[in-house]
Amino acid sequence: MRKPIIAGNWKMYKTLEEATQFAEEVKGLAPDPEKMDAVICSPAPYLAQLVQVLDGYPVAVGAQNMHYEDEGAFTGEVSPVQLKDLSVQYVIIGHSERREYFNETDEAVNKKAKAALKYELTPIICVGETLEEREAGNTEKKVSTQVKAALEGLNDSQVKQSVIAYEPIWAIGTGKTATAEDANEVCGAIRKTVAELYSDETAQAVRIQYGGSVKPENIDELLSMEHIDGALVGGASLKSDSFAKLLEAG
Ligand code: PGA
Repeated sequence: MRKPIIAGNWKMYKTLEEATQFAEEVKGLAPDPEKMDAVICSPAPYLAQLVQVLDGYPVAVGAQNMHYEDEGAFTGEVSPVQLKDLSVQYVIIGHSERREYFNETDEAVNKKAKAALKYELTPIICVGETLEEREAGNTEKKVSTQVKAALEGLNDSQVKQSVIAYEPIWAIGTGKTATAEDANEVCGAIRKTVAELYSDETAQAVRIQYGGSVKPENIDELLSMEHIDGALVGGASLKSDSFAKLLEAG
């Protein structure tokens, strides 16, 4: 019922030439848009180029961050209006690297989610626990607190349009993947949180990705899980052949 969504998160990698070449390579391999949504979240300087190269192909372009104000004196920031202007369709919000290195708070994540939806950008809202929080048995508490804060003030239809990415911080870029069962359990807890805040219908509609060392070798098992509707992929999204394999999954 929920269409899987695979999103590549390139982080701060690639040159313009490499980004363009990647887009040229994946456009012919793109998935059936009825069966899967595919997204590439690139560094901001390449967004316009990627939108142009992928125009007419079922691979959408996403940003990795944005500010929540429409415009103003915010040196170095990119606004939702500017992303919309480029025909960008998605934006990652609250990635753990932004929360850790750029002081992105739950409050800012919430403002960004609202701003994205206002401009019909699909927010990919990231949540996840640290290793210490997991070992202390606080995973579900941490993740549900982040989800509640991120969704504060959104209505049912806005939540249904959003994507939530569960990314345990200890699994990002480490080669350590959560087991499919553990990832499913936390994604199920996120869905339960959405059901409590909204309704069963909304909880059944919202798509929840897993992220953290996803690769072609583990994507099938992850996608076979009841509550996992796709993946947010860092390292394995950087090469077009491995990204293409991820798109064949499910
Ligand atoms: P990874 O990154 O796939 O390299 O672990 C995932 C992410 O940070 O979104």
